[in-house]
Amino acid sequence: MPKQHTTQRELFESRDRWDEDDARRGTVATVVLPEGVEKPLDYLVPESLAAQVEPGRRVRVPLGRANRETLAYCVAVRHGELPQAPLKSVIGVEDERPLLSSRMLDLTKWMAERWMARWGEVLEAVLPAGVRLRNRVRLAPLLVATGAAPPRKPSPAQAKVLAAAGAPRTADQLAAASGASRAVVQRLVKLGLLAEAGAVERPRPTTAARPRIAHDKPAELSTPQSQALAAIGGAMAAGRHETIVLFGVTGSGKTEVYLQAVEETVSYGRQAIVLVPEISLTPQTCDRFRSRFGTVAVLHSHLTPAERHAQWREIASGRVNVVVGARSAIFAPTPRLGLVVIDEEHESSFKQGTAPRYHARDVAEWIARAEGVPLVLGSATPSLETFARCLSGEWTMCRLAERVGGGQLPAVMTVDLRERGSRSRGAVSPRLAAGICWALDAGGQVMLLLNRRGFATHVQCQACGHVARCGQCDLALTLHQPGSRGICHGCGLVARLPADCPDCRTPGLVHSGTGTQRLEEQVRRAFPDAAVARMDTDTMRTRGSHERTLDAFRNRELDILVGTQMIAKGLDFPAVMLVGVVNADAALHLADFRAAERTCQLVTQVAGRSGRGPLGGRVVVQTSTPDHPAIRSAASHDYEAFVRSELPAREALLYPPFGSIVRIVVRSLDEQAAAAWAGTIADRLRREADGAPGVRVLGPAPAPIARLRDRFRWHLQVHGSDGSALRALVARGTEGLKTPDGVAWIIDVDPVDMM
Ligand code: ADP
Ligand code: ZN
Repeated sequence: MPKQHTTQRELFESRDRWDEDDARRGTVATVVLPEGVEKPLDYLVPESLAAQVEPGRRVRVPLGRANRETLAYCVAVRHGELPQAPLKSVIGVEDERPLLSSRMLDLTKWMAERWMARWGEVLEAVLPAGVRLRNRVRLAPLLVATGAAPPRKPSPAQAKVLAAAGAPRTADQLAAASGASRAVVQRLVKLGLLAEAGAVERPRPTTAARPRIAHDKPAELSTPQSQALAAIGGAMAAGRHETIVLFGVTGSGKTEVYLQAVEETVSYGRQAIVLVPEISLTPQTCDRFRSRFGTVAVLHSHLTPAERHAQWREIASGRVNVVVGARSAIFAPTPRLGLVVIDEEHESSFKQGTAPRYHARDVAEWIARAEGVPLVLGSATPSLETFARCLSGEWTMCRLAERVGGGQLPAVMTVDLRERGSRSRGAVSPRLAAGICWALDAGGQVMLLLNRRGFATHVQCQACGHVARCGQCDLALTLHQPGSRGICHGCGLVARLPADCPDCRTPGLVHSGTGTQRLEEQVRRAFPDAAVARMDTDTMRTRGSHERTLDAFRNRELDILVGTQMIAKGLDFPAVMLVGVVNADAALHLADFRAAERTCQLVTQVAGRSGRGPLGGRVVVQTSTPDHPAIRSAASHDYEAFVRSELPAREALLYPPFGSIVRIVVRSLDEQAAAAWAGTIADRLRREADGAPGVRVLGPAPAPIARLRDRFRWHLQVHGSDGSALRALVARGTEGLKTPDGVAWIIDVDPVDMM
């Protein structure tokens, strides 16, 4: 109601309550703030904005006593509402069109509850910064030259505009920079010589020079592959949601099944989202999608905000059929979603490490269920969470038990590092060395996995046992060469290592524990004729370095590739005849209930890189615990045996997948303050948990990494058999807590990082 109207009404003395209510009746928008106030707030919508204020757009609202103008997400609009208290009014509308569909609003609200995050924080997280920035009413799209061949020679004015369009600019900026009129710019857009930045994926130089995959045609599927495809296609054709898990050994052709399922989706006029653990580590998978489909949006972390925004718009317009990306690609705004695929679903990178700490697998399931479309999860080593849901019958498991084309899984030999002589030649045991010789002599290639970078994992005094540690973290320094620098893998601090022990003055500290750098050196010395390269975060710092190294390996310019878990994933190189796991126990004894699962997955995955070609292959696993179920199962290609031994252990302790965990981590520069606050929270949660069945509060205690970047870290865990009841309990227990100054704390629901 216009305000004027009300004041006129006020002239009448004998109005009744109904009239008064009528006058106050109006449109009310509920908004959520990206930060600060957690609760949704109501604002009146002035008539002038009524047409524009709608759920999913951002609005500007006055906040607090000072009425500071603040950006907020409109999540609901109600008409004819009679506000109970006087409301402030919306000041303006930020977005030209809704940023979020009603489904995305529902999803984000669910995510906020599921991972105990603030709704506003989730809303910010699902929208790339580039999209948030560029959706404003005021902003014009950025244009770039497409590089397409002009139909005829461009006019001088057109040529000037094109010359100015090497970098993304708005139409006005282009006109100003070239001295041409806007009509010239618009004409070039019509001709396809200018387009919105990012809408065109620029061919990468390596791809242009030499296609990685010469002809990727759909393969004739094996029987298990066809069965898996039929299961997916059946759900798709019936318009039914179903989660289908492809439990397929390495090289069993899972990717081919994804490709053909996506093809089917596209043939129905629908879109598909394919999630991969990390774009830069999976160039082969991305290339296969690119070469099979015409329009693929690859959402990788190197996109500029403008490019990302343009990709987003292309997807939203329905012009892009296939979206490939890491975790956050699950939020791609597909109007006609038909299928979601998660490759290597067991990877921990699908869980976000910062708030909101969501897991893309659960988000994907919510979306697929809401859209009534199939979700496909693929892995040679499915997470125990996924396995349990298949065993319970909730999800469908399709097994691909054999490699395609009758390929054999490689024979695995374990080397017991406790045996004398196994370490006589450094990190490579005589038997591993013999395996390397065998592969090289046969003309094959070798991959050596060591999941520790640097030269030596610690530097120690042999007299007193002193270990060089980071000054600001509770971590030993890793020795890196050249320059004998000590680097902290927690905070990146670089320190000069002392020549003598600072405690007892004994000269000469010992470098113990081998990292990839020392391994590379030892391998070069032992195999002087072999071409060796190393892949870890130290050697892969520049953009494109993964691809260059992997290309060199594929082209046989390299014989031996040494690396961290980076080399363990998804790579398909037929000439690899030997894979060596230099220290299978590296992460087996961490204070993390998933340590065994991760070790089994890593060893199985890297072993699966061997013997993909006609010459077959072998694997040598070096370990001090050859009888550990994680190692034994990986060595016998029997991941399921590990699952069978691990599930009862998890069940006994009510660990996931049999229960839910909420982890709380408190940080402070002051150790006392961190400990005290963790204690306060634990007390409140214990009081809440008193009498609640199946709930346990563990801790507080110092976190496994007790200090990081000068901050002391204390943590506690709450376990419960029912996730939502557990979250409700934690929410009640932490409600209204006033965090003391100098202390920060986070809640991580169903954590994957326990350190
Ligand atoms: P995974 O993803 O299970 O590791 P891939 O899909 O990468 O397996 O398949 C391994 C190799 O086998 C690839 O080179 C792929 O092109 C090939 N391949 C997959 N399916 C078939 C098939 N049905 N017939 C022939 N080759 C296939
Ligand atoms: Zn440090």
